[in-house]
Amino acid sequence: MKNKELEPFETGPIRPPSEAGSYLIRLTRGCPWNRCTFCRTYKRRPFSIREVEEVIADIDKMAEIRDELREGKTLAGTEGAWMVANAMRSGGKTAFLQDGDSLAMKPEKVRAILSHLKKLFPEVERITTYARSRTMANRSVEDLKSYLELGLNRIHIGMETGHDPLLEVIKKGVTGDIHVKGGRRVVEAGMELSEYLMPGLGGRTMTEGHAADSANVLNQINPNFIRLRTICLGPKLQLWDEFESGRLVRMTDVEIVREIKRFIEALTVKGTRLVSDHILNLLGDLEGNLPEEKDTLLAIIDEFLGLDEETQHLFQVARRSGILTSIADLERGSVSRRAQALLDDIYKRYGKDGVDAATREMMERFV
Ligand code: SF4
Repeated sequence: MKNKELEPFETGPIRPPSEAGSYLIRLTRGCPWNRCTFCRTYKRRPFSIREVEEVIADIDKMAEIRDELREGKTLAGTEGAWMVANAMRSGGKTAFLQDGDSLAMKPEKVRAILSHLKKLFPEVERITTYARSRTMANRSVEDLKSYLELGLNRIHIGMETGHDPLLEVIKKGVTGDIHVKGGRRVVEAGMELSEYLMPGLGGRTMTEGHAADSANVLNQINPNFIRLRTICLGPKLQLWDEFESGRLVRMTDVEIVREIKRFIEALTVKGTRLVSDHILNLLGDLEGNLPEEKDTLLAIIDEFLGLDEETQHLFQVARRSGILTSIADLERGSVSRRAQALLDDIYKRYGKDGVDAATREMMERFV
């Protein structure tokens, strides 16, 4: 448990999995939008932009801790010191700017912080941040280029979907066109861009539009990465009500995999890597470069869809228990035995038709 009084500097609550070994530098608190119905990350935290001097003092403190660790000193067990030590163990070459939309800060202030970071951490080669498409659409390419020159070279955008009716349902506060405008700005500035897609978000009701329009928006942006984050609903989310009331209809794992297949088939991006780096995704090995490995990606999907129902269940249960990543892992005797025992138990408690409900409960444990 973090004791704020003892912490040497402030950090925010989240960062992408790919930034697990990064220095975390908090520019803002919370999210200026904070209305998406599938997101609770900052729900009880009011948004605020930190003073440049505060952030600079944090960077100074981080550099001090880094230097003391380099000298072999033992430091107080704070989360901040642990974060610096962890970043150093991971090579000390990456930093992530927090929270949900850090570039909402005025451009000259962002530049002042980046300049200081560059001066004190010259070894850092990659600086990244989350950003909203709307914020990026409101920044000039020149501003973004100036960030890039100061080391901010990758932006993570939660696109979720490119389908306008669904963007309205989830209250994302943008349209597909704004996603395109914001994403294109980042690409034009020469920064790397990661766009996140949420399979299953529109349920059966909107699955066709979700797959087709999301591919269409991403084809226009042509990001460096497309990251999959399968939907995980919980009763505390506002979006839950849409599904409970029947306005949206939940999809099974198999239906979501079919949706991803339609989405990939419609992609015409070039030089883009599809990444499945989250435990919520059923197919953990669905990764490859587009367009070169499109057939390989579709073959991974077809392999799952071609399994008999019981083997699909076995794989779902094993994946949601966190004991495997790919279908090939089922061939390992120990994995297969554990998966079979779990599946037998689920069949006994929920019946064959209850596997999706049971695995959904297992997924909720991950968020
Ligand atoms: S913009 Fe991002 S951080 Fe803000 S509410 Fe939506 S999903 Fe959450």
